[in-house]
Amino acid sequence: MGGCAICSGELVLRHSGSGLVLDSELLSPTNHRPGEYGDLYRCAACGTLQQPSVPDPARLARLYRGMRDDAYLTEDAGRRRTARRILDMVGRHVPIGRLLDVGCGHGLLLDEARLLGWEVEGVEVCETAAAYARGTLGLKVHEAALEDLDLGGERFDAVLLADVVEHLSDPVSALRRCRGLLKPGGVLCVVTPDPSSATARIAGPRWWGLLPAHTFLLPRATLRGLLRAQGLRIAEDASLVRSFSLGYWLAGFAERGGRLGAAVGAARRVLPRTAIVSVPLGDERVMVAATPRSARAQAEPPAPRRSRRRRETVVHAERA
Ligand SMILES: [Zn+2]
Repeated sequence: MGGCAICSGELVLRHSGSGLVLDSELLSPTNHRPGEYGDLYRCAACGTLQQPSVPDPARLARLYRGMRDDAYLTEDAGRRRTARRILDMVGRHVPIGRLLDVGCGHGLLLDEARLLGWEVEGVEVCETAAAYARGTLGLKVHEAALEDLDLGGERFDAVLLADVVEHLSDPVSALRRCRGLLKPGGVLCVVTPDPSSATARIAGPRWWGLLPAHTFLLPRATLRGLLRAQGLRIAEDASLVRSFSLGYWLAGFAERGGRLGAAVGAARRVLPRTAIVSVPLGDERVMVAATPRSARAQAEPPAPRRSRRRRETVVHAERA
């Protein structure tokens, strides 16, 4: 096999896979079956985890187009709360303007952004998700892969790649493409699992980030370097806090034991299963990277906005 697709470094087998065959069902975001993935290699130089058995780009695109994830929207409330957290971070570094969500899925983040005053559009390859975003939420969605997208030279104040780069066959060119879609002073926000986090290292081969659909898992330091290589400045680099119903957390984590399992198990005794619980797992990064500012943007710093925070429960299971 060849070298690292990110830096050409040497690849070393990290976790042996279970030899499964990838299909549209296995690609869906709610499909978390720990330990089921193809062989995973780690780059000795940049630390990126890569899964070469993921199908070639054309076949992968066909699988994503036909993907269905009917369970996704049952966690609508938690996913919207997570989206607002990401939007709050973006809003700290750029005034509200035009926002493009690449890989927008069902459009929940776009819908939240629109409520905050952003002029929004999305890009999505999955037919059923794009149909929901357009038909049910009335959003403008381009049904195309990022590399085929033609926006006729339009530029955006914010471009988001949330839970996307780890699914791509060429993350570096995707970052370059998104960089090219930014206005002067605009920001690129990348959300992706971090294989160099303490949580990922402790979980080892059973870390949730090791999924059959994940092509590249970029360590925090490597992602920072790739964004800087695009001429961007890291404006914010934080760990993502995810919200789901208690029932969802119980199904996914409680039986795996450890500190998180114990914390979620304790929450079960005092909360209904429908309660929204936010968990800082510490193993997914949110990076906001900014283009050099124009004179106008410097003259108008973004006004701080209050987030519409409702009552929520945060389960602390990990050291900072
Ligand atoms: Zn590498």
